[in-house]
Amino acid sequence: MHCPFCSTEETKVIDSRLVSEGYQVRRRRECTHCRERFTTFETAELVVPKIVKTDGSREPFNEDKLRRSMQHAVGKRPVSEDDLEKSIGHIIHYLQATGEREVPSKLVGNLVMAELKKLDKVAYIRFASVYLSFDNINEFTKEIEKLKD
Ligand SMILES: [Zn+2]
Repeated sequence: MHCPFCSTEETKVIDSRLVSEGYQVRRRRECTHCRERFTTFETAELVVPKIVKTDGSREPFNEDKLRRSMQHAVGKRPVSEDDLEKSIGHIIHYLQATGEREVPSKLVGNLVMAELKKLDKVAYIRFASVYLSFDNINEFTKEIEKLKD
């Protein structure tokens, strides 16, 4: 890495340690030319992809929005905050693991449905009825029938 003071290409690491509970590496470096010291931080780049909505517009992934819609679905159901947070964690981790810069909102919707299905069937149906916007009672009944198996 170039020295930020004199732009010399040669700098050496004089100390390296884990910080932020091991999620970051802090390095002290020294320039071999001007002897100035500086610090660099290294973290894994884990970016949550942007969301492409059905109308083609893009918006940044919003964790609070995801949490709110899931909390709404599990409202008054026997689902602990812990389990809900774990589900949100799974969804975010999955999105990061795609390595994509953008993903369709449909993917997020499907991930939410998959997580809610594991958490609570009623919460799942609540979310699905809004998300899939069932046009008629038959589609709704079909989805409920599927859950019985
Ligand atoms: Zn230097």
